Amino acid sequence: MNAGHGPLTTHLCAQALHYLLFAYRGRQLLRRRPARGGPRWPAFGVPGDGIALTIDDGPHPRWTPPLLDLLDAHGIRATFFLIGDRVREHPELARRIMAAGHPIGNHSMTHPQPFAALPRPALRAEIDRTQRAIEDATGVTPRLFRAPGGNWSPTVLRTTADLGLTPVDWTVNPSDWRSPGVERITRTLSRTRPGQIILCHDGGGDRSQTLAALTQVIPRLIGQGLRFVTVAEDR
Ligand SMILES: [Zn+2]
Repeated sequence: MNAGHGPLTTHLCAQALHYLLFAYRGRQLLRRRPARGGPRWPAFGVPGDGIALTIDDGPHPRWTPPLLDLLDAHGIRATFFLIGDRVREHPELARRIMAAGHPIGNHSMTHPQPFAALPRPALRAEIDRTQRAIEDATGVTPRLFRAPGGNWSPTVLRTTADLGLTPVDWTVNPSDWRSPGVERITRTLSRTRPGQIILCHDGGGDRSQTLAALTQVIPRLIGQGLRFVTVAEDR
């Protein structure tokens, strides 16, 4: 780090990038165009005309099983970004997710925020330890990473790439983690367009609104001809 670039400057740079990414997400929404993840930008969409449901902050014994049942009832798959500590607590849930055919991504060990403000060794440890936790539980090494809070920075993206992971963001955010009401979540999810990535949660609090909204919206989106796909793991 250059002399004079203190932690505050680093933090402000990270925040500036974060807002830039918000603007980029907005542009993606307008253009309805997917992006591919790499060392400079996370993926904001999926190729082709599918839509990808992503589920963050689990696994959780109260919310993950009914969500898996819902997905199974419709014969669709989602991509789960798991927290390492939760996987250590409930390895059987991680195995159940995997056994049902849903790809598992890395969502850090402890979900620290703002993630981009962590020193690089701490960032790396957060991601690396989660890889081990998911491997120990499922036998599979994740290929995808999502930063807690979508808080990306050049350092976060570089560390992600160094560890061989693809960074994945989102385009449709119903803010279900805030429990804004089933109707509001449903309204936002109903606007999903081909190529977009949806962000929902099965951990971090009471997720009954998320479940109720998805129960309504999934058949509606399928009825519109939209096809649920997972975030490709091989790109
Ligand atoms: Zn999260």
